[in-house]
Amino acid sequence: MGKATGFMEYQREVPRERPPEERIKDWKEFKNKFSEEAAKIQGARCMECGIPFCHSGLEIGGMVSGCPVNNLIPEWNDLIYKGKWKEAVKRLLKTNNFPEFTGRVCPAPCEGSCTLGITDPAVTIKANEYQIIEKAFAEGWIQPEPPEVRTGKSAAVVGSGPAGLAAADQLNKLGHQVTVYERQDRIGGLLVYGIPNMKLDKEKVLQRRLDIMETEGVEFITETEIGKDLSLEELKQKFDAVVLTGGATKPRDLEVPGRDAAGVHFAVDYLKANTKHILGDQNEDYISAEGKDVIVIGGGDTGTDCVATAIRQGARTVNQFEIMPKSPDERQPDNPWPEWPKTLKVDYGQEEAIEVFGSDPREFLIMTEEIITEEIDGQKVIDGVKTVKINWERNEENRFVPIEQPGTEKVWPADLILIAMGFLGPEENIIEAAGLEQDQRSNVKADYGDFKTNIEGIFTAGDMRRGQSLIVNAIDEGRKAAREVDDYLK
Ligand SMILES: Cc1cc2nc3c(=O)[nH]c(=O)nc-3n(C[C@H](O)[C@H](O)[C@H](O)COP(=O)(O)OP(=O)(O)OC[C@H]3O[C@@H](n4cnc5c(N)ncnc54)[C@H](O)[C@@H]3O)c2cc1C
Ligand code: SF4
Repeated sequence: MGKATGFMEYQREVPRERPPEERIKDWKEFKNKFSEEAAKIQGARCMECGIPFCHSGLEIGGMVSGCPVNNLIPEWNDLIYKGKWKEAVKRLLKTNNFPEFTGRVCPAPCEGSCTLGITDPAVTIKANEYQIIEKAFAEGWIQPEPPEVRTGKSAAVVGSGPAGLAAADQLNKLGHQVTVYERQDRIGGLLVYGIPNMKLDKEKVLQRRLDIMETEGVEFITETEIGKDLSLEELKQKFDAVVLTGGATKPRDLEVPGRDAAGVHFAVDYLKANTKHILGDQNEDYISAEGKDVIVIGGGDTGTDCVATAIRQGARTVNQFEIMPKSPDERQPDNPWPEWPKTLKVDYGQEEAIEVFGSDPREFLIMTEEIITEEIDGQKVIDGVKTVKINWERNEENRFVPIEQPGTEKVWPADLILIAMGFLGPEENIIEAAGLEQDQRSNVKADYGDFKTNIEGIFTAGDMRRGQSLIVNAIDEGRKAAREVDDYLK
């Protein structure tokens, strides 16, 4: 706990973010730290509730509630309040390999289940986590710690997203020799080529961690696709165990007339090309929104990243379509604490659109019917987007289906369309080539807990096993899969 009466004395405050009008002019991070005094006060709001759901990581109502890596939140809140920062970072690193990632980009299910949240705004858990780890880096407390003894066993990790990095970090710390294979030209998975730089700085934050891991003995091999450049069979022969953490990167497509027009792109292709551009790569795939009318199809976080990116590139207009209804501002009776609060979030991209265009870019209960095209110089290009408003109603089989509202058709100006409609599971090449079993949702089949695939010595974790999820879940799975691999190697 923090201070027994802290929650009655202090209000929740979060560190001031860089204001939208300033931050849209660059690609730098927009989140800030607290002052040390302010952080102590926020730590003091942790109230010794008795049963801290914040670190439970339980699934309630089909959604994660509490921290999936079981961060020891009340303990480090208390340590912050007492100014014991070194002890706080030790506690934090016991459960989370990369708090500098989660402290920036985790949606913080912990705060949704904070007991103080029943009556008051929750403790600032995510900001406290960020504060602890960044102070530790600033003080020089985070240094490479290579294992003292090597076991003589080796493991290959396929895919370098947060699941792969967590598995690699854990296995290396246990003394196994770890090699991470990545098909992209950079290490990081969606940490590098999904999440934009303004949320997670690629050089100052991601590379800082990769450098430490490399010094500790993890080997990174880029531009090598397993299943193409090297078979899984070859990998099995070369290493004592293999962990597959290839993500769930197959995007859901928009099946409407005009989809094949130039200027229609998947969100991750657009975001990746932009990141390469700002990192200074020669990049023929770069897609610019400058001066364009941009439509983002998908109201989730990936869509929001596209909104923020298009604004920074100088888009003329940005609209974001969401097929689901607008969420309520407050929790509803069927969504009680400690469930994940299904409330309306105005995220950074929407804040920035409000600043630039004067209104929230999201349009709810809207369905795209057609991409209107025209022919220019022999090329099919976008001329607009035709939509219709919908309602969700139950059909004869009692399933919710979208019903069009007559007379609500509308044509939107558009030059660039970004599809951010979620993901359908892992890509099948490696799965089919190796004969890996899949579950009903096409993910690689393995139970949470043992992470074993149907092939001896091959494990899987992260989005590849559970479908597109969160960084914190990927870290959790990578850590736990490493424990299973370690048992297997012994
Ligand atoms: C645009 C976007 C923004 C997001 N923002 C957030 C956020 O703010 N907060 C949050 O918590 N979550 C966010 N997520 C979700 C989060 O990024 C993922 O859940 C997480 O990265 C999954 O980690 P992973 O390690 O399982 O897979 P990934 O991060 O997808 O990494 C898999 C890696 O494996 C590589 N790979 C695949 N197959 C092979 C092969 N055969 N050989 C070699 N390499 C291979 C891929 O190239 C990729 O680099 C976001 C997702 C997207 C798409
Ligand atoms: S990792 Fe996410 S859920 Fe866990 S304490 Fe940090 S912000 Fe909360």
